[in-house]
Amino acid sequence: MSIESNLAQIKQNISAACSRAGRDPSEVTILAVTKTIDADRINHAVSLGLTDLGENRVQELLSKYELIHGDVRWHLIGHLQTNKVKYIADKVCMIHSVESISLAKEIEKQCAKIDKVMDILIEVNVSGEESKSGITPAEALAFAEEVSKFEHIRVKGLMTMAPFDAKNDELHQIFSNLYKISVDISSKKLDNVSMGCLSMGMTGDYEVAVEEKSTIVRIGTGLFK
Ligand SMILES: *Cc1c(COP(=O)(O)O)cnc(C)c1O
Repeated sequence: MSIESNLAQIKQNISAACSRAGRDPSEVTILAVTKTIDADRINHAVSLGLTDLGENRVQELLSKYELIHGDVRWHLIGHLQTNKVKYIADKVCMIHSVESISLAKEIEKQCAKIDKVMDILIEVNVSGEESKSGITPAEALAFAEEVSKFEHIRVKGLMTMAPFDAKNDELHQIFSNLYKISVDISSKKLDNVSMGCLSMGMTGDYEVAVEEKSTIVRIGTGLFK
């Protein structure tokens, strides 16, 4: 299948999920996850109008960064080691996977150096699955409060990953829980913290995520298959 027809299908599915949930499709950004995809195919995806690109590894992002043309925004979506923040601070528009204060501290330090305010999402492990990263739902508010003190970080919302084998009911529960946590944090009106972004949904579960108010779906396989 071509990237073009995959993208058309994904957009159609997002529209259908939005109408089931009474949402406007313009509220949902498709983030093209480009891990393992070569620069030519990524450039083709960009030519089709995809502007937001996500990588989960720093090394891979750096290896492609100069090769992708056009007005694109890079997102770091996977586990980020503290010692690698310095390589990507000037290159990404958003870090989706902030799950420790030590990582937030390093983002603060590196962004202060380049006079940048980084948009971040707090990664929450809603399902409690041990292999998944992220803070627990119970820790989320205190974590947001702590991070709100950093001058060079703006918290824009939350991110989660559902287990690969989760059934539909469980997916609905996980994604609606992330939304509830965001409403809870939002009600505290913390400085530098807003909850407009919910990064949830991948190839296997983005339609459920959109029904549960996702604003960023991270899609790799479904786009580049
Ligand atoms: C790989 C990856 C995705 C995309 O997964 P697909 O199932 O290929 O759509 C989304 N989010 C993260 C954090 C990833 O590492």
